[in-house]
Amino acid sequence: MHSIFYYSHELARYDFGADHPFKPERAQKALELCRRYGVMDQQHMILKGPPPLEREKLLLGHSEDYLETLRRVGQGEIFKEMLSFGIGPEDNPPLRGIYDWSGKCAGGTWEGMVALLEGDTDIIFNPLGGFHHAFPSRASGFCYINDIVIAINEALNHKVKITYMDIDAHHGDAVQEAFYNEDRVQFISIHESGEYLYPYSGSVEESGDGKGEGFTVNIPVPPKTDDEVYLEVFHRIVLPLIRGFGPDVLVAQLGADSLVSDPLTDLMLTNNSYIEIVRTLKGLCGKILATGGGGYDIYRTARCWTLAWAILNDVEPRDEFAGLVGGMMFGPEMEVGSLSDRPYTITGPEKDKIRRAMDRTIKFLIKRHHL
Ligand SMILES: [Zn+2]
Repeated sequence: MHSIFYYSHELARYDFGADHPFKPERAQKALELCRRYGVMDQQHMILKGPPPLEREKLLLGHSEDYLETLRRVGQGEIFKEMLSFGIGPEDNPPLRGIYDWSGKCAGGTWEGMVALLEGDTDIIFNPLGGFHHAFPSRASGFCYINDIVIAINEALNHKVKITYMDIDAHHGDAVQEAFYNEDRVQFISIHESGEYLYPYSGSVEESGDGKGEGFTVNIPVPPKTDDEVYLEVFHRIVLPLIRGFGPDVLVAQLGADSLVSDPLTDLMLTNNSYIEIVRTLKGLCGKILATGGGGYDIYRTARCWTLAWAILNDVEPRDEFAGLVGGMMFGPEMEVGSLSDRPYTITGPEKDKIRRAMDRTIKFLIKRHHL
């Protein structure tokens, strides 16, 4: 068995613009940190460039009209109709090359899924994937091509059951919508409550429809939620749900924007939550397709993804350069000089308020899903 890490220097160098928070170079930082900590280049690991996806595969997640619009935008055309497809001056700017770039990022997730299904691989990580906000005909939230929906639709043609677990701070709205009526896909998203944060959806009541009723699970958490509360809800709700469903493949969107340092969100997690969640997921399913996602504190995001890769491969990170180099070689040294964060918890009336809100959510979900 081997594992595949999808990476391309060319894709990681793609630039959304100096003022845009989305920085593909996080993937490069993650790969560099993996090397520094000795968790890359082992015999069973394959480092591979994502392949471009042909139009026929992109149609597994998007409409013909949208793809054609995106292709024209990618060639440098600017036209009024692109606005109705979500492409415009703000979150999803009309970037030259965006069609090819997004299509290749999706190629990693798609090919990774096929490798898992064919049976000779059991761990995939595509830090250049995880675009959970891209809708069939609308770009949104920095996402243009929904690699996750494409890969899961591919898998459904192979008659397998998929759990999609989304730990990004934002609700995985477009993935939810794609499989809302589907009983072969278990969708679980833990995210900062839509009362406070984009995309303003993902309430606990959204739980699937038709034969998909009960297969969508949303766990909104209040701003300032810390590791203690987050892990409690993960263990009490998510763990039994995934065990009960018994997926053939687990797709994990490992957005790292729930960290306390993230500039776009209000959660207060450390990467200790991240470590525990990835370790637990690894114990729940033999085949894991992990993707990147949000993460706007780029060095701490790179640390999360280094830890995720190490845990998924059962290898222990050790700092090969400790004592040899310092300074800014890999970025701010204090942020990459160790991989794990110091524990952090909040206390006092604010914590009590969060606990009360989460007790209600947990009670609701236990009843709703007969846990
Ligand atoms: Zn996010």
